[in-house]
Amino acid sequence: MSEILIKNADTVLTMDDARRELAGADILIRDGVIAEIGQKLCTSGTVQSASGCVVTPGLVNTHHHLYQTLTRAVPGGQDALLFGWLKTLYPIWARFGPEEMFVSAQIGLAELALSGCTLSSDHLYLYPNGARLDDTIAAAAELGLRFHPTRGAMSIGESDGGLPPDSLVEREAAILEDCIRVIDAHHDAGEGAMCRVGIAPCSPFSVSRDLMREAALLARDKGVMLHTHLAENDEDIAYSEANFGCRPGQYAEDLGWTGPDVWHAHCVKLDGEEIDLFARSRTGVAHCPCSNCRLGSGIAPVRAMRDAGVPVGLGVDGSASNDAGNIIAEARLSMLLQRVSRGADAMSAREALEIATRGGADVLGRPDCGRLAVGKRADIAIWDTTGVESAGSWDPAALLLAGPTRVRDLFVEGRQVVADGQIATLDLTAVIRRQNTLAKQIAVAL
Ligand SMILES: [Zn+2]
Repeated sequence: MSEILIKNADTVLTMDDARRELAGADILIRDGVIAEIGQKLCTSGTVQSASGCVVTPGLVNTHHHLYQTLTRAVPGGQDALLFGWLKTLYPIWARFGPEEMFVSAQIGLAELALSGCTLSSDHLYLYPNGARLDDTIAAAAELGLRFHPTRGAMSIGESDGGLPPDSLVEREAAILEDCIRVIDAHHDAGEGAMCRVGIAPCSPFSVSRDLMREAALLARDKGVMLHTHLAENDEDIAYSEANFGCRPGQYAEDLGWTGPDVWHAHCVKLDGEEIDLFARSRTGVAHCPCSNCRLGSGIAPVRAMRDAGVPVGLGVDGSASNDAGNIIAEARLSMLLQRVSRGADAMSAREALEIATRGGADVLGRPDCGRLAVGKRADIAIWDTTGVESAGSWDPAALLLAGPTRVRDLFVEGRQVVADGQIATLDLTAVIRRQNTLAKQIAVAL
């Protein structure tokens, strides 16, 4: 039995069912689970002082393409709209292989961990040169983050009228076979799971209608979740209406892509009927505000979604459309964007943090994560509010207004992943060096 006691936090934002905020509180972790929350708790194990700190549940990232940390700020893609941006990046991604997938995942996940993330999804939809989903799973296991990788796919290449080059698409039968392989090898359906696999064709315009339907059937057969991009921008809606004769929400519903086991990235352009459909069917949304700004896609109707009862989580999206992968900065931007469109009372700092914690956990089907309560997983972020950015704050617990954007300490399943502001589980300096070498090698070979 191993115990860690987080002692004397200034404030614990529990995000539990009553949204309790506890002053001067302790949290006792036992074998990766929260055993007690209260005052004057004791342990014979390790004690971690949280005096001068705000403690929150670890943040949850519901949408990412980790491999894209190797293509941040590519000059030809800096100012392009979505489709033009993809066309610039595909030839670069076609040069990736297993090592690129592994190292870029370590970088992306480490960046997330330093910004308070304990559980991340990933959407990997291209597999050039022998790359496999397993490469990213190995990276997450080494770092110690809870990981929901999804087996993405593209099957419609340029010669079939699609966007990606033929070298980056796969045969649909091979895609489904590999989905079964990675689920059988890595998916853990149990409570406290550190790895859960999902199925995630890249978008409705990069695979066939048949594959969308088959993927949904396979996911239900295997008891795993479904994920894709949906209704991202105006081009996306126009494509759906021109090619499928309906809006994205209708297309998703027709193919079995609604329900509590489905979450869609972006959903910037959902209309009122689609929001009702998502609320009724408990279909989740991964809201990616920075990516939506960067690509000029628009402001997702998060206030309307939340009011209707749509499960909403937060996503940093891939680093080629965000460049940064800072989950707490993303939460702050989600709050600000709703205010841009709906006024200053449209979303509070605490509600945005709720979306980033229990909101994301619920979208990913993880009621055992995203809140601090007895019996929940010990995924915990400790934020030092004694620094310059919090100085003069009358409410340090309103973290998204003036708080730090980097954690002091981070625990996942009770294991310390960040200690005193540094990654504790791997030599991050060496990984950064390797990542920069790989990026240079690819740039030279182009
Ligand atoms: Zn994306």
